[in-house]
Amino acid sequence: MGEMYYSEFVDVYDKLFATTKRLEKEAILAEFIKTLAKKDESEWIYLLKGKIFPDYDEREFGISGQLTLKALAFAFGVPENKVTEMYRKVGDWGQIAEELADKKRQTTLFSSKLIVKKVFENLRKVVSIEGKGTVSRKIELIAELLGNASGREAKYIVRTLLQDLRIGVADALLRDSITDAFYHDDKKEMVSLVGEAYDLANDFAVVFEAAQKGKKELEKISIIPGKPINAMLAIKVEDIDEAFEVCGVPAAVEDKYDGFRVLIHKNKDKIWLFTRRLENVTKQFPDVVEAVKKYVKGESFILDSEVVGYDSKTKIYRPFEAISQRIKRKYDIEKIAGQLPVEVNVFDVLYYQGESFLKKEFKERRKLLEKIIKNEKWKLVSARQIITSSKEEAMRFYENALSRGEEGIMVKKLDAPYQQGRRVGYMVKLKPTVNDLDLVVIGAEYGSGKRGGMLTSYILGCRTEKDFVEVGKVSSGFKEKESEGVTYDQITELLKPLIIEEKGNVVRVSPKMVVSVTYQNIQKSPSYSSGYALRFPRISHYRPDRGIKDIATLKDIEKEFVRMQRKAEK
Ligand code: AMP
Repeated sequence: MGEMYYSEFVDVYDKLFATTKRLEKEAILAEFIKTLAKKDESEWIYLLKGKIFPDYDEREFGISGQLTLKALAFAFGVPENKVTEMYRKVGDWGQIAEELADKKRQTTLFSSKLIVKKVFENLRKVVSIEGKGTVSRKIELIAELLGNASGREAKYIVRTLLQDLRIGVADALLRDSITDAFYHDDKKEMVSLVGEAYDLANDFAVVFEAAQKGKKELEKISIIPGKPINAMLAIKVEDIDEAFEVCGVPAAVEDKYDGFRVLIHKNKDKIWLFTRRLENVTKQFPDVVEAVKKYVKGESFILDSEVVGYDSKTKIYRPFEAISQRIKRKYDIEKIAGQLPVEVNVFDVLYYQGESFLKKEFKERRKLLEKIIKNEKWKLVSARQIITSSKEEAMRFYENALSRGEEGIMVKKLDAPYQQGRRVGYMVKLKPTVNDLDLVVIGAEYGSGKRGGMLTSYILGCRTEKDFVEVGKVSSGFKEKESEGVTYDQITELLKPLIIEEKGNVVRVSPKMVVSVTYQNIQKSPSYSSGYALRFPRISHYRPDRGIKDIATLKDIEKEFVRMQRKAEK
């Protein structure tokens, strides 16, 4: 028990890399998961996703191409300029690590075999080191692993560190493989049970362990205040007719506030605030914590809400950008809270006084919400809502919402449970037609002239089952001056640490930065790996509050393409 060679992981990585077929991948993973179960180290399962922490944990390696270069030079005793030269030729850190490690093995007689425990430990240390000498300590920890690694092992260690494993293990695949590893009967039920458990835990180690023990243990995984959970997502509709079709009538119609999603957790005197990507933002919003204490009754609860900024003088709501800077803020928090006040609009309750409300009907949850909230304008209120079967009434509500500067409306199914993640159609959004999509930046180009040294053009990607594919390039939307909004300079600073490959003036970055993009049309295009290209794209928002799970999938793009074609034909 407990002992395992890292080479066993590497064998699986290679096998997964070698096939793009979903069923084959699933079989490979299921087999390996059975082996892993015998080791009694459930956290090692994170390595299959190239991670060392659960998905809700935001800590990162913080390893750039530059640091990789230094670690490789140090580990293999090669001058840095030689490594740079190799990089110029090959353009792939993983491959360079492999070559260097193989060469070293040929000349050294002895090196010990890497065990998973050691790899896992060192990787965790790389994340946790802080303070003086951090960089050189990180390099030492990485070099210690590389120095004892075979070529293939070195390649995957480097790829893990750069968060670029390239073996195509998405959450859905891992969930299904865990089910396959332990269950043969009632497959459908177990797939959905494992899926639900994952939505609640956001932690593959927890799900993996429970799945081994059996159905009862999986069912025990529940929501508790303090542990972040995935939010329910909305689908987009074209008009009220479609909204009613999806949600049935009567339905609830609510304002769609233009702020950012916050799940509010409380247990006794402790309050936590989590964004939709499970990031803990409690510290950044002491004013929200205060409001929750004051205006919500109850010892323990989990609420779903949209937090919206407003101008303290004019009392006019401000667009998301204005408060987005509060999300990442680490200093002067009280001061900025005064300058950029927010209002909390609560629209759901998922847990109350020790009981989960996820499976209860929305109308019941809303009733509870109204009982426990004391509405206080500009601080904390329950979302404006009507319940109606009338198209005219819904239309009036919609127009009224727009005239008050809201983004649009949400229509919600009254008897639906709170279904986490997946866009199931229990709530739909209706906005005036601007075509927009959330996408992730997967590459960028340096500008020239006045914009030299800055990354000013961005390659956009959407999600597939396996990884990310390109859907176009965008260079407009950000600003030159800070007073006007997010600048190219700021975006460059944020992108630089994410660079994993550099060729000429083009860089590839690990997919982290989410942006909302408007565009005029979608075309088929051989120039981008998705086969589609956005026409006239423009970045409307930088979205630090969203993660890659939130972005559009290739299927979404295909659907949009078909929809736009149809519209054009009408
Ligand atoms: P979108 O961001 O366009 O996918 O729209 C869904 C988002 O709208 C949710 O994730 C919330 O952040 C936000 N939202 C604003 N008002 C509401 C509301 N009344 N109910 C649910 N979500 C809302």
